[in-house]
Amino acid sequence: MSSLSAKIQDVFNEPACDKNCGKDAKARKEGCSKPLTPGAAAGGCAFDGAKIVLQPITDVAHLVHAPLACEGNSWDNRGAASSGATLWRTSFTTDLTELDVVMGQGERKLFKAIREIKEAYAPPAIFVYSTCVTALIGDDIEAVCKRAGEKFGLAVVPVNAPGLAGSKNLGNKLAAEALLEHVIGTVEPDDAGPYDINILGEFNLSGEFWLVKPLLDRLGIRVRACIPGDARYLDVASAHRARAAMMVCSTALINLARKMEERWDIPFFEGSFYGITDTSEALRNIAELLVKKGADPEILARTETLIAQEEAIAWKKLEAYRRRLQGKRLVLNTGGVKSWSIVHALMEIGIEIVGTSVKKSTLEDKERIKQDDNHMFEQMAARDLYAMLSEGKADIMLSGGRTQFIALKAKTPWLDINQERQHPYAGYDGMVELVRQIDLAIHNPIWRQVREPAPWDCQPAMKDEPPSTTSGTASLHALKKFTGTTPTISASVEETR
Ligand code: SF4
Repeated sequence: MSSLSAKIQDVFNEPACDKNCGKDAKARKEGCSKPLTPGAAAGGCAFDGAKIVLQPITDVAHLVHAPLACEGNSWDNRGAASSGATLWRTSFTTDLTELDVVMGQGERKLFKAIREIKEAYAPPAIFVYSTCVTALIGDDIEAVCKRAGEKFGLAVVPVNAPGLAGSKNLGNKLAAEALLEHVIGTVEPDDAGPYDINILGEFNLSGEFWLVKPLLDRLGIRVRACIPGDARYLDVASAHRARAAMMVCSTALINLARKMEERWDIPFFEGSFYGITDTSEALRNIAELLVKKGADPEILARTETLIAQEEAIAWKKLEAYRRRLQGKRLVLNTGGVKSWSIVHALMEIGIEIVGTSVKKSTLEDKERIKQDDNHMFEQMAARDLYAMLSEGKADIMLSGGRTQFIALKAKTPWLDINQERQHPYAGYDGMVELVRQIDLAIHNPIWRQVREPAPWDCQPAMKDEPPSTTSGTASLHALKKFTGTTPTISASVEETR
């Protein structure tokens, strides 16, 4: 645990994090998570965060060293997609019992599980996750992984992020530390080139990175490693030979980007593939960084040509929705997809933004949103959100699954824009898809029916009927309407009410 606490302090000291730099030494030691509010959702634990970051590496076996429940906690909770390998979708756990704990069988069981996985699946690597129970009983997963790796001749990577270490976000960063310590730089590629890049913090949700990759292919830019979305172990292990990197989600993997720059001189920038302007900006920045690292400057002109073509196509496609969406009011209440670029594109086609959450937006994003739209909020209480929607102040809410029922209760169309979403929204085509989904959600005929009063609420009250809201009374209404008579309720039924 002492090496773990040293690692945690190192992660808390992240110099590339703006928020962290603004804190004093004492606040920095306390980390990033706020004290929990009673009644509010707490988010995942550090193990959960580590698993979220690493599980999309698709040809790896992810083995959770814990009682069964930990694996259930995070299993398959995001829609990351794979273009080939499927091993990551198989759940592996040592399923520790009380007896194993009492008899000190944890490490032995772990070693046996690694052997079974190696024999049954022969993966290029096994990632072993520590959890609260195995950390508390003192199982030395680093030693077991080292021994098993030597014996079985494969990479066995310890991921030391037990839930009790802290928040999900801390777990994200500890996962990055595991990659830095045990994976990246362990394989030398024989095809490194001047147009190789890494994409960090991209999860390929609903396969959305596949809307961006063809653009890079057309520019002759090769994605050496996309970490973690649709990644393969060998790509991640050779990621240190990329010439530049783009960091998509800074809150998750800022330490990975910074340390890769320090160790292997891979410059990075923070960008987004959400929205038209941000996608263009990201392509431009990638090309510029590659040129700085020795690529032929002609790529800059080719990038501009591609941007001009793709933007023109995207705006033309979006124009088709203007008539249907002009004047519609939208609330954007989301943690992940929240960039100014999306707000900007939606406003361009006539959608009115009546609320934008900026909880996880960058300072630059906040400034840009402020110029276009003055309805920013850090966080809105569920009660206020419900009041806003039920008063009809918005035609649709875009948010994560956690707040979907607020919208549905307020009979307001809702679209999932967070990690569980079903549709890809990245790149130029992703922006068009987002607008298409907004259109479909708003104009879905179900909303007209849902907002109509229930048939029994339209019936005039009948003098001789006892006031009741039971479904039995509703049935009696229906029966009377059908037969024209008031049915008699037998004494025994009456007594049971
Ligand atoms: S690691 Fe700890 S906090 Fe996380 S799911 Fe397991 S027991 Fe719960």
